[in-house]
Amino acid sequence: MSELSALGAGQLLGLLQRRQASALEVTRACLARVGEADPDVHAFLELNPRAEDEARRFDRERPDPADAPLGGLPVAVKDNILTRDLATTCGSRILEGFVPPRDATVVRRLRRGGAIVLGKTNLDEFGMGSSTENSAFGPTRNPRDLERVPGGSSGGSMAALAARMAPLALGSDTGGSVRQPAAFCGVVGLKPTYGRVSRSGLVAFGSSLDQVGPAARSVRDVARLLAVIEGPDPADATSAPLAGGDYLAACDRGVRGMRVGLPREYFGAGLDPAIERAVRAAAERLERDGARLEEVSLPHTEYAIPTYYLVATAEASSNLARYDGVRYGRRAGDDRDLLGMYRSTRAAGLGPEVKRRIMLGTYALSAGYHDAFYGKAQRVRTLLRRDFMQVFEDGCDVLLAPTTPTPPFRLGEKSDDPLAMYLSDVYTVTINLAGLPALAVPVGTTDGLPLGAQLIGPPFGEERLFQAGAVIEQTPAGVGDGS
Ligand code: GLN
Repeated sequence: MSELSALGAGQLLGLLQRRQASALEVTRACLARVGEADPDVHAFLELNPRAEDEARRFDRERPDPADAPLGGLPVAVKDNILTRDLATTCGSRILEGFVPPRDATVVRRLRRGGAIVLGKTNLDEFGMGSSTENSAFGPTRNPRDLERVPGGSSGGSMAALAARMAPLALGSDTGGSVRQPAAFCGVVGLKPTYGRVSRSGLVAFGSSLDQVGPAARSVRDVARLLAVIEGPDPADATSAPLAGGDYLAACDRGVRGMRVGLPREYFGAGLDPAIERAVRAAAERLERDGARLEEVSLPHTEYAIPTYYLVATAEASSNLARYDGVRYGRRAGDDRDLLGMYRSTRAAGLGPEVKRRIMLGTYALSAGYHDAFYGKAQRVRTLLRRDFMQVFEDGCDVLLAPTTPTPPFRLGEKSDDPLAMYLSDVYTVTINLAGLPALAVPVGTTDGLPLGAQLIGPPFGEERLFQAGAVIEQTPAGVGDGS
């Protein structure tokens, strides 16, 4: 039965619709895989105890596939996305046991689309990290090599996909947290254009950067998932009032005539040669299929990491002020001393990386420093966005770049050196600062470790990413387990 768990969402939907498998069988196969693999991997923080009942109900009711495009499919959901019947901890002690009063918009859309929430996946606390080692509930390991990290912060979701525990997953991406772990685990993940997917019910980290991102083992399955979760939402004023694209059809459109830019600054010092070779091989594949390659320049790229770590920490320090022991989660200390209670609650409930970010962000926003740090970062952010907009105006349809500078690193390798950890996001954070969409696609392996490329598009250019991603995936080195 566990072969079912190895199939992609597209294949499973076919079996379900032809009644060659039931939702209960699919859910049980995924749960069996979790039982086999998760004691080592630790992708899940909690499984949905009602998953089998929900599958049975689907099998009884059999809604029309047009109404339920993900009918009967289990989905792994990152634990910073609200689920009304399952705890949502953000990987933090301060929210341990917190059961939200409602579903996030994306979860409501998943359920309405017939999907079954399989469980909640591990993450770096509040999404702050690149290895999932910053979870208060222990690290997740990379299923491809258990001594290595799965990346982060959506490491649990991507590890669940790579280990065949679920065919579909949701992550969130503030500075690379869908794409970097997708690259490390050898799966496909999208960071949508800012505003494409509702943030209502995604626990805020950096509100001007955050997006929920769909992930799967194939480009087509990511397209299927995006189609269900995207779209305007009255509960999120930053969601764009735009009709969705036909992402699945885009996967079959090919790349003839497409202009693909290779940004020079993404192929410089520090890039692992195996990754460079694999990304260039993906570019050649696009060229063979009729795309035109050109070298382009994004001249402000070197400022991206400092800019991101000012903007993201400033927004985080403000967003995380709500965890005060009064409104959410845990409380520590003496209730009769309000300030003391705040202090004890935050001291006990938040981990070291979260505290570091709150301090950095509070400093960057403080009187006297606000203009020099936060104000300046906002201005550089505009320049970074302009770099991209210029290249797209000059005629590039998409850009192709590495997702990460190195293959997955070992557990513990960077945990004592926050700066080294921050540098693993060198190719991903700029895209969030600029609000653009980017699709991470596997492009092969080195010594059995996955390597990733990302396709970057203009605002709301997701269809182009799917067009090019589906071609890259067909290269022999790509993951492409079909769908
Ligand atoms: N790794 C980056 C950080 O630590 C990005 C995190 C994310 O996208 N949530 O901030």
